[in-house]
Amino acid sequence: MQNYRVPLLELPPEGRQFQLADAAIWQSPLAEFGMDCRIVQPLRAEIQLIPTEGGCLIRGHLSGQVALPCNRCAEEALTGIDASFEDFEELPDAAQDRPPHLLQDSESQALHGTERLIFEGASPMLDLAAVCWEEFMLALPVSPLCKTDCKGLCPRCGVNRNQSSCNCSEDEGDPRLAVLRGLKLPRQ
Ligand SMILES: [Zn+2]
Ligand SMILES: [Zn+2]
Repeated sequence: MQNYRVPLLELPPEGRQFQLADAAIWQSPLAEFGMDCRIVQPLRAEIQLIPTEGGCLIRGHLSGQVALPCNRCAEEALTGIDASFEDFEELPDAAQDRPPHLLQDSESQALHGTERLIFEGASPMLDLAAVCWEEFMLALPVSPLCKTDCKGLCPRCGVNRNQSSCNCSEDEGDPRLAVLRGLKLPRQ
């Protein structure tokens, strides 16, 4: 994948606008983390970087469409992405006196593959690909649904209730015990 690092100290005072539409920006981490998410309509990000006192303002918009497994039936749930975001990247005064919490933050970010601020020598670089990934993760719904009235799977036989009905009756007790009811004891 191309390098999307922007040297923050070289931004003009009025800021700079970036357009990002390289599928690899999202496809690489999706594959890396083994996420069940298919890009249906190309993801695009517009990002504006504005230098400010002590850091840089990150403003942008992300759009596209992905397919995620439905939270109820596990079929594909088409999910539109249309998110505006505004964030701030704080620049440490000097690499030597970075407060401990900043170090911890960047460590935990690295774990999640979203280390946005990288130093090339003394020059702080903002990785726009990491920003795109982070904002994409924030834009995903917590519980995607294939349709708002998805009937889900039958807890007993597993049939997709959107496609067919089954003969399981609703009043056979606690569905969480269904798995035990299906167990066969060895014959003596
Ligand atoms: Zn569903
Ligand atoms: Zn059933």
